[in-house]
Amino acid sequence: MVTQRITDFLATRRPEGPCLVVDLDVVEENFRAFRRALPDSAIFYAVKANPAPEILKLLASLGSNFDCASVAEIEMALDAGVTPARISYGNTIKKERDVARAHDLGVSLFAVDCVEEVEKIARSAPGARVFCRVLTNGEGAEWPLSRKFGCVPAMAVDVLVTANRLGLKATGVSFHVGSQQTDTNAWDSAIADAKFVFDALAEKGIVLTLVNMGGGFPTRYLKDVPASSAYGQAIFQSLTKHFGNRLPETIIEPGRGMVGDAGVIKTEVVLVSKKSATDENRWVFLDIGKFGGLAETMDEAIRYPIVTPRDGDAMEPCVLAGPTCDSADVMYEKTPYPLPVSLTVGDELLIEGTGAYTTTYASVAFNGFEPLKAYVI
Ligand SMILES: *Cc1c(COP(=O)(O)O)cnc(C)c1O
Repeated sequence: MVTQRITDFLATRRPEGPCLVVDLDVVEENFRAFRRALPDSAIFYAVKANPAPEILKLLASLGSNFDCASVAEIEMALDAGVTPARISYGNTIKKERDVARAHDLGVSLFAVDCVEEVEKIARSAPGARVFCRVLTNGEGAEWPLSRKFGCVPAMAVDVLVTANRLGLKATGVSFHVGSQQTDTNAWDSAIADAKFVFDALAEKGIVLTLVNMGGGFPTRYLKDVPASSAYGQAIFQSLTKHFGNRLPETIIEPGRGMVGDAGVIKTEVVLVSKKSATDENRWVFLDIGKFGGLAETMDEAIRYPIVTPRDGDAMEPCVLAGPTCDSADVMYEKTPYPLPVSLTVGDELLIEGTGAYTTTYASVAFNGFEPLKAYVI
């Protein structure tokens, strides 16, 4: 969303080179919308989506908690002024010395998805609370998280039983339905899986209390997406359907949905050319590409809206590519991107919906290009 504040900032500051501008007012609105959509769920912002200190400070002041993927992210959340009680170490793949470091910093809530990880936590963060992540199929997600994380529900039962046996507190179940999840019903089968694990543990005398429903809430790119209120309704219905009137504590971990539409990348056209006199598609090269922050164009998964100074002129499909000497640095080719025919070298474009998963995906000095600059206003 190109807000007036972003337009004014770019007009007055005229930053050189490609950059991301994030409008904190939009982040605040998103936070409040999540809170309204699921008033009984605690919000744990997924720091990896955009760890800019200004964003973390704002969210901390609004009452957010933080889902961290590493010790460095835990330290960023602590620097933003939250207590370790408001932080979870949500990565299921952790070095044992990082578990120990998190424990030393006071973090006491950890994600696991196998007995091997439970053993590390029992040794290096004795007494901690753990939740077990279950697999989901990722259907309906434009950026699915595949089989890398989670285990089947039957194994989650063993994992949590082992956790209790080793002196940890088996606390609950987590899942992630896949990022940019456009189906508001995608949470239903995972909530059913959580209930299965709750019941199986109850039979063994272990009472689970927490369902961590992960992220997945979308940002609007080219297509409209349902509002967070629609997700809230569908999720609440699923919770009552499966848990009846004994609802567990719940957590959501929005990343993309919290910051995606708060950011806009300013970029410049470096070259417009064709490969032959009869080439159907022009190639448009920007000063940003897959290595400069637009990594989520991989497999053309995420299609960003682009605003040009020549919108309204006749359009034609273009291949859109980045500036590096790497042939992988092509963003849209299988499905070319319609851009104005009049587009020319030096034109400044605005790429919308780039507040999440951009700055931290930018390479350091690949081909001598600086990592993506960010201004949080
Ligand atoms: C990345 C991640 C999130 C955030 O996902 P979004 O789709 O950006 O909302 C939440 N939880 C965990 C465990 C993650 O790894």
